[in-house]
Amino acid sequence: MLKGKLALVTGGSRGIGRAICEKLASLGADIAFSYAGNEAAARETEAACRALGVRVLARQADVGSAEAVAGLFEAVLAEFGRVDILVNNAGITRDSLAMRMKEADFDAVIETNLKGTFLTMKAAARPMMKQRAGRIVNLTSVVALRGNAGQANYCASKGGVISMTKAMARELAGRGITVNAVAPGFIETDMTAVLPEEAKSSMAASIPLGRMGRPEDVAEAVAFLAGDGAAYITGQVLAVDGGMAM
Ligand code: NAP
Repeated sequence: MLKGKLALVTGGSRGIGRAICEKLASLGADIAFSYAGNEAAARETEAACRALGVRVLARQADVGSAEAVAGLFEAVLAEFGRVDILVNNAGITRDSLAMRMKEADFDAVIETNLKGTFLTMKAAARPMMKQRAGRIVNLTSVVALRGNAGQANYCASKGGVISMTKAMARELAGRGITVNAVAPGFIETDMTAVLPEEAKSSMAASIPLGRMGRPEDVAEAVAFLAGDGAAYITGQVLAVDGGMAM
């Protein structure tokens, strides 16, 4: 149970982030989550978590902006006075073959997925170190382990997340803070809905368990790593991919 704990989830308005908010709320954690701009979706997550009987703070905040992340943490600490769990879920894709990839699309993906994860971990380190406890879970991807044509920017950002997870696990271990990563495979969300049918069916065919993942499959793994039972696990990457990356 996570009663009395505060979980901050980035990108909680839709998809995997929403499932993580709902799962952690169902375990009793109060929830703070950020989103990029989809106000209507954010309200839906907020209502779903409130219905589970926990306190909820939703805030628009671009994780790639140091100023916005500082504002997010100020608001969370003012409201709850603590950060026990940080889930770095916010992420974007801007796919194209490297030959055609625009520099702006490379930069945008690195800024949100990699720098955003760094900025929030940096901001969480102080309150977690004071508490001498904390759980950080970063969303990476199966493609960071396997590579994927058309995603040089995304693979670089998610590969960076894995390395940074290990670096931060070593930096924070002495204070009882664990830092782990979850690597989803091919999950049914808005992010994958936009892929061409051909790409979807060839990816689906490569999943040993024979189906796409659901956001709830990923949320289960995040909840495990965020809970007391995972106290002796740090610096790890847990694939939730139906066997794609083994
Ligand atoms: P999604 O459905 O596209 O949702 C993305 C979420 O991130 C939304 O809540 C969005 O907010 C938020 N977001 C985007 N940019 C942001 C920013 N700059 N600042 C703050 N929030 C931002 O994505 P998803 O499929 O759930 O993916 C969630 C995470 O899992 C991502 O890190 C993704 O890379 C990773 N992942 C997904 C898959 C998959 O198959 N779906 C596979 C492997 C890894 P708005 O609603 O306001 O836009």
